[in-house]
Amino acid sequence: MQIPKPCPKCGEFQLNRSRSKNIFEKGLKRILPIKTYRCHACHWRGWVSNRKITQEVSLRKAVLIYSAVIVISLIVANMLRIMILR
Ligand SMILES: [Zn+2]
Repeated sequence: MQIPKPCPKCGEFQLNRSRSKNIFEKGLKRILPIKTYRCHACHWRGWVSNRKITQEVSLRKAVLIYSAVIVISLIVANMLRIMILR
């Protein structure tokens, strides 16, 4: 769901999604829960994130990554132990 966000410069609710201009922006967009926006009122262009949503998502993501790291390291440790014992 899209929640209207005010422009950081002029405060107008006229932000529209802007296309990524280069690989750097595309990469950032994938890593971080932010998107490029352009204001129709003042022509500001920049990054905007939805904090309420992103906090929840990033917390869930962090928990997932953390548990994945623990599971993987346990598997690797077990594999190493088996290899050493041979
Ligand atoms: Zn603006």
